[in-house]
Amino acid sequence: MAIATINPATGETIKTFEPLTDEAIALKLDLAQQAFEQYRHTSFEQRATWLQAAAKILLDEREQFGKTMTLEMGKPIAAAIAEVEKCASVCQYYAENGARFLADVPAQTDASQSFIRFQPLGIVLAVMPWNFPFWQVFRFAAPALMAGNMGILKHASNVPQCALAIEDILQRAGFPRGAFQTLLVGADKVASIIADHRVKAATLTGSEAAGASLASLAGKHIKKTVLELGGSDPFVVMESADLDAAVSTAVTARMINNGQSCIAAKRFIVQESIADRFTQKLVEKYASLKLGDPFDPETDIGPLATRGILDDLEHQVQTCIEQGGKVLIGGDSHSVPTRSVVSLQKGNFYPPTIVAELSLDSPIVQEEFFGPVALLFRVPDLDAAIQLANGTPFGLGASAWTTDETERDRLINEIESGCVFINGMVKSDPRLPFGGTKHSGYGRELGVEGIHEFVNIKTVWVK
Ligand code: NAP
Repeated sequence: MAIATINPATGETIKTFEPLTDEAIALKLDLAQQAFEQYRHTSFEQRATWLQAAAKILLDEREQFGKTMTLEMGKPIAAAIAEVEKCASVCQYYAENGARFLADVPAQTDASQSFIRFQPLGIVLAVMPWNFPFWQVFRFAAPALMAGNMGILKHASNVPQCALAIEDILQRAGFPRGAFQTLLVGADKVASIIADHRVKAATLTGSEAAGASLASLAGKHIKKTVLELGGSDPFVVMESADLDAAVSTAVTARMINNGQSCIAAKRFIVQESIADRFTQKLVEKYASLKLGDPFDPETDIGPLATRGILDDLEHQVQTCIEQGGKVLIGGDSHSVPTRSVVSLQKGNFYPPTIVAELSLDSPIVQEEFFGPVALLFRVPDLDAAIQLANGTPFGLGASAWTTDETERDRLINEIESGCVFINGMVKSDPRLPFGGTKHSGYGRELGVEGIHEFVNIKTVWVK
């Protein structure tokens, strides 16, 4: 895949970038290693000051960074600016709490003194996706830098300007040269980078295939990994739920980021007794969404990030139809109204789509739909809802709607996922650990757990 900025709303190639040579990669790893030897001895207070400075740059220049994101991957501009603000919040969070999370933990043993100390590992490789091009990186970088590690970023090939902007922000914030570097390289270079003796660990956010590939390479070289992979999150609505609140949230939860979020609600599982009303309201709301230029503040849904994603989604919806699904709205990219606007004709637009009546045995139900397509299912009761919620290889997040306490407790306990949100939309929050189970990955980002992923948890015992 070429490293390039291609406007997904118009198909226009804005700028292309030459990938780094092997020699240039080696020099950057040298620099990171040298920087680590100094950086590991800096104080938490100093690192916190640099993180606060990064937060300030993000907030001061949020509009410019938001525009870069919208240009490269098509998310609506207001959402892009909000993403920059969220990045500032994660920098502030670890600046304020990192020293506490990494303080020695005393333990009572037979020693005269024993405690646990958290020490940095060194260079950590971050392989990141394009869908939240700032947030995915900052939620790794803030705790990694606070813990004393070095970050090297291999970002998705379609967001090179975001990748370079992030390196620049951290540099301007005052972090030493080499503490955080962007490597403009294709996925083909990841194997040799992870094999390099200076790289101590890796984190990947992306598809199952990429995660499995990176983890097997890291396993071969005995290096720790964190994987944040795909999801097909259930959104369960029981009869007792506040139906209007559930429908409104269902729209946002599926359409956020033009439908391209790992934790977007993708399968809507509704109790039979309220299914007709839920469906009717959802279709009405989908029909009112405005698809178009992501720079237009009136736009609800912009283009998909790449032509490949559009092609995959079209193919998946066709497969749904072949496997017995019924399209209630959308389902055809050629019917998109924006195609009448000349400059947008070559954009990757796909309309908000709902597919119902799929049989649970349909193989397509097992897949992740990365775009504005909702799969709708009806279930007779809670047992069937939980069984269906757990019926994919994924286990990232789940949103469940009920006002019944017994139902709530069963949903919390029995859904197999990294998080369960009751009467709310699944979202990441610096204060809460984030990550998946099953094929959605392992390890956690954010919260206290996130900062403990890339440290040596050293046991100290003194007689
Ligand atoms: P992707 O194709 O796996 O790409 C993600 C990153 O991995 C990119 O930097 C990509 O580089 C690189 N990559 C691709 N194949 C690789 C390989 N074989 N070895 C090493 N690196 C490789 O994923 P995507 O399509 O961009 O992103 C969408 C997926 O990410 C969805 O499944 C989504 O659910 C998941 N996601 C998960 C989370 C989470 O927190 N769990 C968050 C966001 C997204 P190139 O761009 O150069 O190919």
